[in-house]
Amino acid sequence: MQGVTSNDFSSARHTPRHDLESSPAATVSAGPGPGPAPADLLRRLRARGAGDPVTHVERVPARAGVPAPWPSWAPAELRAAFAKRGVIAPWQHQAEAANLAYEGQHVIVATGTASGKSLAYQLPALATLHADPRATVLYLAPTKALAADQLRAVAALELEGVRPACYDGDTPRAEREWIRRHSRFVLTNPDMLHHGILPGHAQWSGFLRRLAYVVIDECHTYRGVFGSHVAHVLRRLRRQCARFGTTPVFVLASATSGDPATAAGRLTGLPVTAVTDDASPRGGVTFALWEPPLLPPDTDSGSPVPPQATGEHDDLHQVRRSALRETADLLADTVAEGVRTLAFVRSRKGAEVVAANARRSLDDAVPGLGDRVAAYRGGYLREERRELERALLHGDLLGLASTNALELGVDLIGLDAVLICGYPGTRASLWQQAGRAGRSGQEALAVLVARDDPLDTYLVHHPEAIFGAPVEATVLDPANPYVLAPQLACAAAEAPLTPADLVLFGDGAKEAVDQLVAAGALRQRPTGWYWRHRERPEVDLRGEGGAPVCVVESSTGRLLGTVDGGSSHFLLHPGAVYLHQGVSYVVDDLDLADGCALVHVEEPDWSTHARDVTDLSVVSVRSYVDAGPVGMFLGEVDVTSQVVSYQRRRIATGEVIDTRPLDLPARELRTVAVWFTLSPQSLTLAGVQPADVPGALHAAEHAAIGLLPLMATCDRWDIGGLSTAVHPDTEAPTVFVYDGHPGGAGFAERAYGTASAWLRATRDAIAECGCETGCPSCVQSPKCGNGNNPLSKPDAIRVLDVVLANLPD
Ligand SMILES: [Zn+2]
Ligand SMILES: [Zn+2]
Repeated sequence: MQGVTSNDFSSARHTPRHDLESSPAATVSAGPGPGPAPADLLRRLRARGAGDPVTHVERVPARAGVPAPWPSWAPAELRAAFAKRGVIAPWQHQAEAANLAYEGQHVIVATGTASGKSLAYQLPALATLHADPRATVLYLAPTKALAADQLRAVAALELEGVRPACYDGDTPRAEREWIRRHSRFVLTNPDMLHHGILPGHAQWSGFLRRLAYVVIDECHTYRGVFGSHVAHVLRRLRRQCARFGTTPVFVLASATSGDPATAAGRLTGLPVTAVTDDASPRGGVTFALWEPPLLPPDTDSGSPVPPQATGEHDDLHQVRRSALRETADLLADTVAEGVRTLAFVRSRKGAEVVAANARRSLDDAVPGLGDRVAAYRGGYLREERRELERALLHGDLLGLASTNALELGVDLIGLDAVLICGYPGTRASLWQQAGRAGRSGQEALAVLVARDDPLDTYLVHHPEAIFGAPVEATVLDPANPYVLAPQLACAAAEAPLTPADLVLFGDGAKEAVDQLVAAGALRQRPTGWYWRHRERPEVDLRGEGGAPVCVVESSTGRLLGTVDGGSSHFLLHPGAVYLHQGVSYVVDDLDLADGCALVHVEEPDWSTHARDVTDLSVVSVRSYVDAGPVGMFLGEVDVTSQVVSYQRRRIATGEVIDTRPLDLPARELRTVAVWFTLSPQSLTLAGVQPADVPGALHAAEHAAIGLLPLMATCDRWDIGGLSTAVHPDTEAPTVFVYDGHPGGAGFAERAYGTASAWLRATRDAIAECGCETGCPSCVQSPKCGNGNNPLSKPDAIRVLDVVLANLPD
């Protein structure tokens, strides 16, 4: 049996050794003058290598904005305040959403980056505060930084009597009471609502009693298990409001997302109207899809893994030039052209590698030129961020390699080009990152550089999946019993639960309450269910999979941070390289009894990659499709996994140094899985030899996991899989794909609901990959517990053809 489970966040996988071969142009245009036209720039970039790496060029045309009149209800003072900040009139989508909200409808505005979503909620909220001098507004952002930015925006309007204020973990005690009593526009985050405001509802009664609007900004970030928790925090908020006799209007803002009304409905538990027609103006973008070339298998610089080092079969597989190297070259080339460029790289280490390589390559061409490229990793102070923005704006800095920390909360303008190193996981993020390009309506260039994995490869060969498809749905599952039960405990600690509350909390609430009673956490009385303990329940919205493990620096005893229990075996095993705020540490010891890992500062030139073995048994079937020789199932499963070893790989080359054994206990996970079975006869008929069945299923499993993020907002690290030629519970050849979170997070459910589209994309991704025997772009997985063995690429296509031929659409 093959097993693959969760969580390997280390960077620079599969990075072949390869010298930077393209030298940048010697001439440099100084200062921030207009760069070359995007089409010309792209022509020069793609002409530099041997083959043409560009698989598609999309021209996203410029769009003129569609303004709308101010709503008649918007008071003159408010219009004047906006006009002073440069807003002459709202765009159509802003006015439409504002009108709906003002009429009392729950609304979500889901439009692109910089389309002015804030005005859509500021307008009705502030107009209401003006009309009713007692009314209040609660604003929620996923990060403190974003709430602080919004506070500045609202404060800058200088409206009388609003007294906007942030209320979060950083708010001094002395100010808290003043804010509760006097602020009418409180900005906070879901964690503070959960830990502070709702448990302290008695102190907040004055504010909640008058609450007119709840604004939920960047609501697409509330997905998976975290999103499911936030959904219940919002239900708890609605319950407290109802006790005080108020029913606030919810206004949500989201990046462009698939079916935003449904996602917002799941998040809030309310019927929500969506506004999605973006009427803001934007400059045109030339968007290129870029696939680094396959390296010749026999070059000494091309083979990432000496065969003798692994004892595996990786040497049979071809490898592409790494996206990091390719992005570094492109960054050097655009900077040499005088083009202000931002490169998005998924990991901090990766961003540093890209910046360092680009700098070196530029300095080789013109000594000193490398100084105009920098790395940005997030976690910077506000002043440091502003300094960086200033340097980029003035052209002191021309190139920046960053993690997606820049996606939220940093305001960069005046970029001519954006390089995206690896698909960022969702189309929503892709458009947010690409949306950074273009200064004041000018034409800009965006390039997506494909990494060596099935999803990236599929996308650069299926531009319609990027440019023609609606963006993916935000997936969350409030019915997850592992979320529902602790949230009901929190609700009961705030006020006894009533039968009406069970309706509010939705499917499964009664079962969860019964379990809490049986466990002694709640007591049933004629008036409802009461929390029995003195202390409040301890529930972390963002943690999952067991108690968090503390990371402690041995020499100083300093607590660096925590890692959730589910990931700790993967990230904090003895010998693991652990990155924190850009600093590299090595783990000395993982003490599971104390929930603590001891580390020391060390930056070795290798990364570590944990491997596990997995066993799975079916608990129950929720739903299934009987399609002749093929069966498709959704249900609960028990997964047992054990981290058994880890590999050390050179960061620069991806070369495997060695594999070391680990002695960690096995762990159990009850979760939700989707699985399909095939009859052995149908496989024989399709030409799959019995001996090749394990490799066929295993390859199909890897690729299916790789492609699931196309359907749901997860990434492959949220999902696990297992395949086997005969499973004791299904008695047939079977491929399982399961949520890597206790109780499930909605990913497997989404996969089941879109099974034929998902497996069709999987089949196409494998078939269209140019390699012969399988590569990381199609059927190999970077976190395979079995060292990517066995794998059969041609037979995986046959397996999926059988499934697709029988499964109804
Ligand atoms: Zn391939
Ligand atoms: Zn595997």
